[in-house]
Amino acid sequence: MAQISLQNVSKTYKGGVKAVDSFNLGIENKEFMVLVGPSGCGKSTTLRMIAGLEEISDGKVWIGDRLVNDVPAKDRDISMVFQNYALYPHMTIFENMAFGLKLRKYPKSEIIRRVDEATEILGIKKLIDRRPKQLSGGERQRVALGRAIVRKPKAFLFDEPLSNLDAKLRVQMRAEIHKLRLRLQTTFVYVTHDQTEALTLGDRIVVMKDGKIQQCADPMTIYDKPTNKFVASFIGTPPISLISGRIIKKERKYYFDEGQFQVKLVEEMYKAIAPYEGKEVIFGVRAEDIYDKLFVSEASPENTIRATCEVVEPLGSEVYLYLNSGKSLFVARVGAHNRPDVNRDMDLVFDMSKVHFFDPETENTII
Ligand code: ADP
Repeated sequence: MAQISLQNVSKTYKGGVKAVDSFNLGIENKEFMVLVGPSGCGKSTTLRMIAGLEEISDGKVWIGDRLVNDVPAKDRDISMVFQNYALYPHMTIFENMAFGLKLRKYPKSEIIRRVDEATEILGIKKLIDRRPKQLSGGERQRVALGRAIVRKPKAFLFDEPLSNLDAKLRVQMRAEIHKLRLRLQTTFVYVTHDQTEALTLGDRIVVMKDGKIQQCADPMTIYDKPTNKFVASFIGTPPISLISGRIIKKERKYYFDEGQFQVKLVEEMYKAIAPYEGKEVIFGVRAEDIYDKLFVSEASPENTIRATCEVVEPLGSEVYLYLNSGKSLFVARVGAHNRPDVNRDMDLVFDMSKVHFFDPETENTII
């Protein structure tokens, strides 16, 4: 168990790529911290600097109360799990899991005890005499987890551990990692490009872009109160719909004017939006905050618009509607019972208390 702290950490690779830029983050003891962002945003580089697999160009990394900038990876007392499992092909599963402990000269009885405990936790006891090529992808990933567990490290660092698994197994292993975390009560730093993994696993999530932290907060804050347009659009499935338009004021009320339609803002937003009167803004609405008017008991014409439903995508428990209002495209998520005809015009109601506004220049959140 340990807290991990990164102070002003940067990484510039040879050739000048600045992969990580002034990264400041405190990870609490026993916290599950997820680093998420698109490919190339610097997640792995950050993790590898914590692990000691990558030199730090600038700043300080602390594990517990120890400054580890110059401590080699093997002496940092952390375990890393990789996407490609990194198992030794010529060794049995037992040998793979025991290897790190043998190197550290643990007594044989202790090695057997720890491997036994880890294989029990992960449900892979019957596999210990096999070699990696005789295992499925999911089983190999369990062995890789087991190898990390037996070390009883201060922290686990996971680099896209589920990315090589098929969709169903990924969901299953996600739940297993969650259980493992509850059982081990250790600090986890978990890198993924998958926003669903981030939302479901993280106590807190760091959203990264171009080597910089965009936002660090708990999953619901990231989802409900994104700090900028990038975070709003990266997190959430289907992605938030973003529509350009202007703020106008009529009879002391503020409206978002898209050109073809206008919707009225809720009063709680007036103060924040007032400086944008007459100016361009970006309006953001999540799929679950758009309703088919037929299923809404009371809808004001001031938050209802007309659009054509171009595609109906049934997903079993829910349906995505791809809509076109003439000038803008957006997506709604409605109940499974709701199957409008394609190319039919329909009335849609926005829940205006849930919508977002972004500054088109800075892309920062206004509301
Ligand atoms: P992520 O894990 O978010 O996909 P990485 O940390 O792997 O991103 O990479 C961040 C940036 O650093 C990318 O632009 C990548 O091309 C670059 N990069 C990564 N490793 C190296 C390296 N060894 N040498 C030079 N550039 C690298």
